[in-house]
Amino acid sequence: MSRIAYVNGRFLPHSHAEVHVEDRGYQFADGVYEVVLVQNGVMVDEMPHLDRLDRSLDELRIAHPMSRGALRSVMRELVRLNRIRNGLVYMQVTRGVAKRDHPFPKNAKPSIVLTAKRISMPSQETVENGVKVITIRDIRWERCDIKSVSLLPNILGKQEARENGAFEAWQVDADGNVTEGTSSNAWIVTQDGELVTRPATNDILNGITRLSILKLAERQGLKYVERAFSVDEAKKAREAFASSATAFVTPVTQIDDVVIGNGKAGTLSRGLRDSYMEYAAGEGATA
Ligand code: PMP
Repeated sequence: MSRIAYVNGRFLPHSHAEVHVEDRGYQFADGVYEVVLVQNGVMVDEMPHLDRLDRSLDELRIAHPMSRGALRSVMRELVRLNRIRNGLVYMQVTRGVAKRDHPFPKNAKPSIVLTAKRISMPSQETVENGVKVITIRDIRWERCDIKSVSLLPNILGKQEARENGAFEAWQVDADGNVTEGTSSNAWIVTQDGELVTRPATNDILNGITRLSILKLAERQGLKYVERAFSVDEAKKAREAFASSATAFVTPVTQIDDVVIGNGKAGTLSRGLRDSYMEYAAGEGATA
Protein backbone atom coordinates (compact mmCIF):
# COMPACT_ATOMS: atom_id res chain seq x y z
CA MET A 1 0.00 0.00 0.00
CA SER A 2 1.48 3.39 -0.90
CA ARG A 3 1.71 5.98 1.81
CA ILE A 4 -0.26 9.19 1.64
CA ALA A 5 0.84 12.61 2.92
CA TYR A 6 -1.02 15.88 3.34
CA VAL A 7 0.58 18.99 1.80
CA ASN A 8 -1.09 22.40 1.94
CA GLY A 9 -4.66 21.26 1.42
CA ARG A 10 -4.10 18.08 -0.60
CA PHE A 11 -3.72 14.39 0.18
CA LEU A 12 -0.95 13.07 -2.09
CA PRO A 13 1.10 9.89 -2.60
CA HIS A 14 4.48 10.28 -0.84
CA SER A 15 6.26 10.30 -4.18
CA HIS A 16 4.39 13.51 -5.07
CA ALA A 17 4.43 15.13 -1.64
CA GLU A 18 6.71 18.12 -2.14
CA VAL A 19 7.28 21.65 -0.90
CA HIS A 20 8.90 24.51 -2.79
CA VAL A 21 12.71 24.97 -2.72
CA GLU A 22 12.18 28.41 -1.18
CA ASP A 23 10.09 27.13 1.69
CA ARG A 24 11.57 28.74 4.80
CA GLY A 25 11.48 25.42 6.59
CA TYR A 26 13.86 24.01 3.99
CA GLN A 27 16.11 27.07 3.85
CA PHE A 28 16.15 28.33 7.44
CA ALA A 29 14.51 25.62 9.60
CA ASP A 30 11.95 28.38 10.16
CA GLY A 31 9.18 26.13 11.36
CA VAL A 32 7.79 23.91 14.09
CA TYR A 33 6.46 20.38 14.39
CA GLU A 34 4.53 17.95 16.53
CA VAL A 35 4.36 14.18 16.83
CA VAL A 36 1.18 12.54 18.09
CA LEU A 37 1.07 8.87 19.00
CA VAL A 38 -1.66 6.72 17.46
CA GLN A 39 -2.51 3.71 19.57
CA ASN A 40 -5.24 1.25 18.63
CA GLY A 41 -6.32 3.69 15.94
CA VAL A 42 -6.84 6.67 18.25
CA MET A 43 -4.72 9.72 19.13
CA VAL A 44 -2.99 9.91 22.51
CA ASP A 45 -2.82 13.23 24.37
CA GLU A 46 -3.99 14.96 21.20
CA MET A 47 -5.16 18.24 22.77
CA PRO A 48 -1.97 18.94 24.75
CA HIS A 49 0.08 18.27 21.59
CA LEU A 50 -2.09 20.70 19.60
CA ASP A 51 -1.84 23.25 22.42
CA ARG A 52 1.96 22.96 22.27
CA LEU A 53 1.87 23.36 18.48
CA ASP A 54 -0.12 26.59 18.91
CA ARG A 55 2.35 27.79 21.52
CA SER A 56 5.40 27.02 19.33
CA LEU A 57 3.77 28.90 16.42
CA ASP A 58 2.88 31.87 18.61
CA GLU A 59 6.38 32.08 20.10
CA LEU A 60 7.82 32.32 16.56
CA ARG A 61 4.98 34.52 15.27
CA ILE A 62 4.05 32.06 12.52
CA ALA A 63 0.37 32.24 11.53
CA HIS A 64 -1.84 29.24 12.28
CA PRO A 65 -2.40 27.49 8.94
CA MET A 66 -5.86 26.13 9.77
CA SER A 67 -8.36 25.84 12.59
CA ARG A 68 -7.90 23.14 15.19
CA GLY A 69 -11.09 21.42 14.03
CA ALA A 70 -9.82 21.25 10.44
CA LEU A 71 -6.41 19.99 11.58
CA ARG A 72 -8.01 17.25 13.66
CA SER A 73 -10.03 16.15 10.61
CA VAL A 74 -6.87 16.01 8.48
CA MET A 75 -5.09 13.95 11.17
CA ARG A 76 -7.93 11.44 11.23
CA GLU A 77 -8.19 11.22 7.47
CA LEU A 78 -4.44 10.60 7.25
CA VAL A 79 -4.61 7.82 9.84
CA ARG A 80 -7.50 6.28 7.88
CA LEU A 81 -5.84 6.58 4.46
CA ASN A 82 -2.58 5.07 5.73
CA ARG A 83 -4.41 2.40 7.75
CA ILE A 84 -2.47 3.18 10.91
CA ARG A 85 -3.43 1.28 14.03
CA ASN A 86 -0.23 1.82 15.95
CA GLY A 87 2.01 4.60 14.77
CA LEU A 88 2.35 8.33 14.72
CA VAL A 89 1.15 11.45 12.99
CA TYR A 90 3.89 13.98 12.20
CA MET A 91 2.88 17.57 11.46
CA GLN A 92 5.08 20.45 10.44
CA VAL A 93 4.25 24.11 9.91
CA THR A 94 6.74 26.57 8.43
CA ARG A 95 6.59 30.30 7.82
CA GLY A 96 5.96 29.55 4.15
CA VAL A 97 7.51 30.18 0.77
CA ALA A 98 9.31 33.47 0.05
CA LYS A 99 12.38 34.77 -1.73
CA ARG A 100 15.33 33.90 0.50
CA ASP A 101 15.93 36.74 2.96
CA HIS A 102 16.30 36.52 6.73
CA PRO A 103 13.53 38.86 7.99
CA PHE A 104 9.96 37.57 8.13
CA PRO A 105 8.42 37.83 4.64
CA LYS A 106 5.47 40.21 4.31
CA ASN A 107 2.80 38.04 2.72
CA ALA A 108 3.93 34.46 3.10
CA LYS A 109 1.27 31.85 3.87
CA PRO A 110 2.40 29.19 6.36
CA SER A 111 3.04 25.76 4.83
CA ILE A 112 1.59 22.70 6.51
CA VAL A 113 2.63 19.12 5.93
CA LEU A 114 1.38 16.00 7.69
CA THR A 115 2.66 12.45 7.37
CA ALA A 116 1.78 9.27 9.23
CA LYS A 117 3.66 6.04 9.73
CA ARG A 118 3.40 2.79 11.61
CA ILE A 119 5.73 2.16 14.51
CA SER A 120 6.27 -0.97 16.54
CA MET A 121 6.23 -1.10 20.31
CA PRO A 122 9.60 -1.38 22.04
CA SER A 123 10.55 -5.04 22.54
CA GLN A 124 9.97 -6.87 25.81
CA GLU A 125 13.77 -7.08 26.05
CA THR A 126 14.00 -3.26 26.04
CA VAL A 127 11.26 -2.93 28.62
CA GLU A 128 12.89 -5.47 30.94
CA ASN A 129 16.59 -4.76 30.46
CA GLY A 130 16.40 -1.07 29.71
CA VAL A 131 18.65 0.87 27.38
CA LYS A 132 21.99 2.67 27.47
CA VAL A 133 22.35 6.44 27.26
CA ILE A 134 25.53 8.42 26.79
CA THR A 135 26.10 11.95 28.06
CA ILE A 136 27.09 14.79 25.75
CA ARG A 137 27.47 18.54 26.01
CA ASP A 138 24.25 20.46 25.39
CA ILE A 139 25.17 22.79 22.52
CA ARG A 140 21.64 24.01 21.75
CA TRP A 141 20.13 27.49 21.92
CA GLU A 142 18.17 29.19 24.72
CA ARG A 143 14.69 28.40 23.40
CA CYS A 144 14.58 24.63 23.67
CA ASP A 145 10.98 25.02 24.89
CA ILE A 146 9.94 25.68 21.27
CA LYS A 147 9.45 22.51 19.21
CA SER A 148 11.39 23.88 16.26
CA VAL A 149 12.44 21.78 13.25
CA SER A 150 15.93 23.18 13.78
CA LEU A 151 17.34 19.95 15.20
CA LEU A 152 21.01 19.80 14.20
CA PRO A 153 22.43 19.43 17.73
CA ASN A 154 19.82 16.75 18.44
CA ILE A 155 20.71 14.87 15.27
CA LEU A 156 24.44 14.99 16.00
CA GLY A 157 23.77 13.82 19.55
CA LYS A 158 21.54 10.94 18.48
CA GLN A 159 24.09 9.85 15.90
CA GLU A 160 26.81 9.85 18.56
CA ALA A 161 24.52 7.73 20.73
CA ARG A 162 24.00 5.22 17.91
CA GLU A 163 27.74 5.06 17.20
CA ASN A 164 28.25 4.22 20.87
CA GLY A 165 25.57 1.53 20.95
CA ALA A 166 23.22 3.74 22.92
CA PHE A 167 19.51 4.48 22.60
CA GLU A 168 19.79 8.13 23.53
CA ALA A 169 22.22 10.90 24.44
CA TRP A 170 21.49 12.94 27.56
CA GLN A 171 22.57 16.52 27.03
CA VAL A 172 24.46 18.24 29.83
CA ASP A 173 24.55 21.97 30.58
CA ALA A 174 27.55 24.08 31.66
CA ASP A 175 26.83 23.29 35.35
CA GLY A 176 27.07 19.55 34.77
CA ASN A 177 23.30 19.06 34.98
CA VAL A 178 21.31 16.93 32.56
CA THR A 179 18.87 18.95 30.46
CA GLU A 180 17.14 16.23 28.42
CA GLY A 181 17.67 13.61 25.72
CA THR A 182 17.89 14.51 22.04
CA SER A 183 14.28 13.41 21.54
CA SER A 184 13.06 12.55 25.02
CA ASN A 185 12.93 13.87 28.58
CA ALA A 186 15.27 12.51 31.26
CA TRP A 187 14.25 11.15 34.68
CA ILE A 188 15.92 9.54 37.66
CA VAL A 189 14.75 7.91 40.87
CA THR A 190 17.14 8.75 43.71
CA GLN A 191 18.37 6.30 46.34
CA ASP A 192 15.67 7.82 48.59
CA GLY A 193 12.99 6.82 46.09
CA GLU A 194 12.29 10.33 44.87
CA LEU A 195 11.29 10.78 41.23
CA VAL A 196 13.24 13.68 39.69
CA THR A 197 12.99 15.47 36.36
CA ARG A 198 14.22 18.87 35.26
CA PRO A 199 11.71 21.75 35.52
CA ALA A 200 10.13 22.91 32.26
CA THR A 201 12.02 26.14 31.59
CA ASN A 202 13.46 27.33 28.27
CA ASP A 203 16.22 24.73 28.70
CA ILE A 204 14.05 21.78 27.70
CA LEU A 205 11.05 20.82 25.65
CA ASN A 206 8.15 20.33 28.03
CA GLY A 207 7.27 16.81 26.92
CA ILE A 208 3.59 15.97 26.76
CA THR A 209 4.48 12.48 28.01
CA ARG A 210 6.47 14.16 30.79
CA LEU A 211 3.36 16.11 31.84
CA SER A 212 1.18 12.99 31.77
CA ILE A 213 3.72 11.07 33.86
CA LEU A 214 3.83 13.89 36.42
CA LYS A 215 0.02 13.81 36.59
CA LEU A 216 0.06 10.03 37.14
CA ALA A 217 2.81 10.30 39.78
CA GLU A 218 0.81 12.96 41.61
CA ARG A 219 -2.31 10.78 41.59
CA GLN A 220 -0.43 7.75 42.83
CA GLY A 221 1.01 9.77 45.69
CA LEU A 222 4.59 9.19 44.50
CA LYS A 223 7.31 11.43 45.87
CA TYR A 224 8.48 13.60 42.97
CA VAL A 225 10.29 16.87 42.41
CA GLU A 226 11.05 19.01 39.36
CA ARG A 227 14.67 20.05 39.77
CA ALA A 228 17.95 19.85 37.92
CA PHE A 229 20.09 16.76 38.55
CA SER A 230 23.75 16.24 37.69
CA VAL A 231 25.34 13.47 35.66
CA ASP A 232 27.04 12.27 38.87
CA GLU A 233 23.72 12.06 40.67
CA ALA A 234 22.16 10.22 37.72
CA LYS A 235 24.97 7.67 37.76
CA LYS A 236 24.31 7.01 41.45
CA ALA A 237 20.53 6.84 40.97
CA ARG A 238 18.46 3.80 41.85
CA GLU A 239 16.58 4.02 38.54
CA ALA A 240 16.50 6.15 35.41
CA PHE A 241 14.23 6.41 32.40
CA ALA A 242 13.44 8.45 29.30
CA SER A 243 10.00 9.61 28.17
CA SER A 244 8.50 10.66 24.85
CA ALA A 245 5.33 10.17 22.82
CA THR A 246 6.93 7.31 20.89
CA ALA A 247 9.25 5.84 23.56
CA PHE A 248 6.60 6.12 26.34
CA VAL A 249 8.58 5.32 29.49
CA THR A 250 11.83 3.63 28.47
CA PRO A 251 13.94 2.34 31.38
CA VAL A 252 17.59 3.42 31.30
CA THR A 253 19.99 0.92 32.86
CA GLN A 254 23.34 2.29 31.74
CA ILE A 255 24.67 5.85 31.65
CA ASP A 256 28.03 6.03 29.85
CA ASP A 257 29.95 3.13 31.45
CA VAL A 258 27.96 3.01 34.67
CA VAL A 259 25.25 0.44 35.27
CA ILE A 260 22.16 1.84 37.01
CA GLY A 261 20.63 -0.15 39.86
CA ASN A 262 20.97 -3.87 39.18
CA GLY A 263 21.04 -3.38 35.42
CA LYS A 264 17.36 -4.25 35.01
CA ALA A 265 14.42 -1.90 34.60
CA GLY A 266 13.53 -0.44 38.01
CA THR A 267 10.27 -1.11 39.84
CA LEU A 268 9.08 2.48 39.80
CA SER A 269 9.96 2.91 36.09
CA ARG A 270 8.04 -0.25 35.19
CA GLY A 271 5.09 0.81 37.31
CA LEU A 272 4.99 4.22 35.64
CA ARG A 273 5.31 2.62 32.23
CA ASP A 274 2.31 0.37 32.95
CA SER A 275 0.24 3.29 34.28
CA TYR A 276 1.17 5.41 31.29
CA MET A 277 0.18 2.64 28.84
CA GLU A 278 -3.13 2.26 30.67
CA TYR A 279 -3.64 6.05 30.58
CA ALA A 280 -2.77 6.15 26.84
CA ALA A 281 -5.39 3.51 26.10
CA GLY A 282 -8.07 5.16 28.23
CA GLU A 283 -8.22 8.67 29.60
CA GLY A 284 -5.47 10.02 27.30
CA ALA A 285 -7.08 8.70 24.09
CA THR A 286 -9.33 10.73 21.78
CA ALA A 287 -11.29 9.06 18.99
N1 PMP B 1 12.61 16.57 24.43
C1 PMP B 1 12.91 16.65 23.11
C2 PMP B 1 14.11 17.42 22.68
C3 PMP B 1 12.09 16.01 22.17
O1 PMP B 1 12.36 16.09 20.85
C4 PMP B 1 10.98 15.24 22.62
C5 PMP B 1 10.13 14.48 21.65
N2 PMP B 1 9.33 15.30 20.88
C6 PMP B 1 10.70 15.21 23.99
C7 PMP B 1 11.54 15.89 24.87
C8 PMP B 1 9.51 14.46 24.52
O2 PMP B 1 8.32 15.14 24.22
P1 PMP B 1 6.94 14.37 24.07
O3 PMP B 1 6.72 13.61 25.35
O4 PMP B 1 5.94 15.44 23.88
O5 PMP B 1 7.07 13.47 22.89
